[in-house]
Amino acid sequence: MAGWQDRFPGVAEADWRDWRWQLRHALRGADDLARLFRLTDRERRGLASTAGLFRVGVTPYYASLIDPDHPSCPVRMQAVPAPEEAEAAPGDRRDPLGEDRHRPVRALVHKYPDRALLLATDTCPVYCRHCTRRRITGGAVAGRPFDRAAVEEAIGYVRAHPELRDVLVSGGDPLVLSDERLGWLLGELRAIPHVQILRLATRAPVVLPMRVDEALARLLRAVKPLYVVTHFNHPKECTPDARAACELLVDHGVPVENQTVLLRRVNSSARTIADLNHRLLSWRVRPYYLHQGDLAEGTGHLRTPLGTGVAILEALRGHTSGLAVPHLAVDLPDGGGKITLQPDYRAAPPPGTVPEGPGQWFRGFRGTRHFVPEPPDDDVSCPYDAVFYPG
Ligand SMILES: *Cc1c(COP(=O)(O)O)cnc(C)c1O
Repeated sequence: MAGWQDRFPGVAEADWRDWRWQLRHALRGADDLARLFRLTDRERRGLASTAGLFRVGVTPYYASLIDPDHPSCPVRMQAVPAPEEAEAAPGDRRDPLGEDRHRPVRALVHKYPDRALLLATDTCPVYCRHCTRRRITGGAVAGRPFDRAAVEEAIGYVRAHPELRDVLVSGGDPLVLSDERLGWLLGELRAIPHVQILRLATRAPVVLPMRVDEALARLLRAVKPLYVVTHFNHPKECTPDARAACELLVDHGVPVENQTVLLRRVNSSARTIADLNHRLLSWRVRPYYLHQGDLAEGTGHLRTPLGTGVAILEALRGHTSGLAVPHLAVDLPDGGGKITLQPDYRAAPPPGTVPEGPGQWFRGFRGTRHFVPEPPDDDVSCPYDAVFYPG
């Protein structure tokens, strides 16, 4: 396929490599996109019917990955709205994860006992069509932006809550912020003694890899331990630029994890997920979560049945590196939090078997049946805990 120079003739290499140029030149609607490839009638209807509902924005870099000939291109389907996006599907909600009831301050969600999610901004380089926080990044219907006062208030909340040992900096995409602003934010969090680990949730390696440079890698390393959590959904996104961004971070001692959202007709096959995870692992990026699509408004056409994810895990487990097998997460509606699903490997005893004592029958990944004996005694207390954890 053609390189970016053919898709964006006349753009200087220095501009292309400049992440701010990429943000300034994001494609914002039908006219911009139509200059790049021929929009289908469906895509035109999708763009028209969602205008004013949800933001559209695609970096030239991410747009250059779009297959101009195939509307089912996974990059295209994540970037260009479908007409269904303007319709509510059964179960759709504005606040799919019940976060607003766990928002003690405007820019922070505190749903779990020891960790919180800080919303550093409401803007993104690319507005994903499956976004779970689209009510926040929503453009016309968005609330007040996350200005410095809102972020300072969130930092104050973390400071006042010693139970918070893990803070996820998210948004929006925090890597739309300057190094200076990001350095300030992460520095403030790092200075809070009870904050043990930081996480930075960003799609920049996927949609704006030029954002990840030496200076950023050093900045992130300096506030260690910080984990970058990124969001690759398809092997088509695994470009040399994306690889360079991930490897730069890892080479600087910044671990990179990946969260994939399971999307109907985009990546809803075991082959795609396995290929994606193999590529990521070869860059030392660890697959963390495979997310069942949340009930975010207008994303119903991209969701799969729950069994799709389970079947994908079953196709991976045992058949490939355990490192390539993510947790399948379902974030429950109304604030129930994340749970994980897995294939059920328990099996009935083969007909005619005599019970061998306590234990459980399982089917292995090849389908064979096996018995795992268990000890009769269930005392599992650790006597040394009393010594190691005095008081
Ligand atoms: C997913 C999430 C977290 C982090 O959950 P982990 O399972 O620790 O990765 C924290 N806060 C919110 C609001 C989340 O949605």
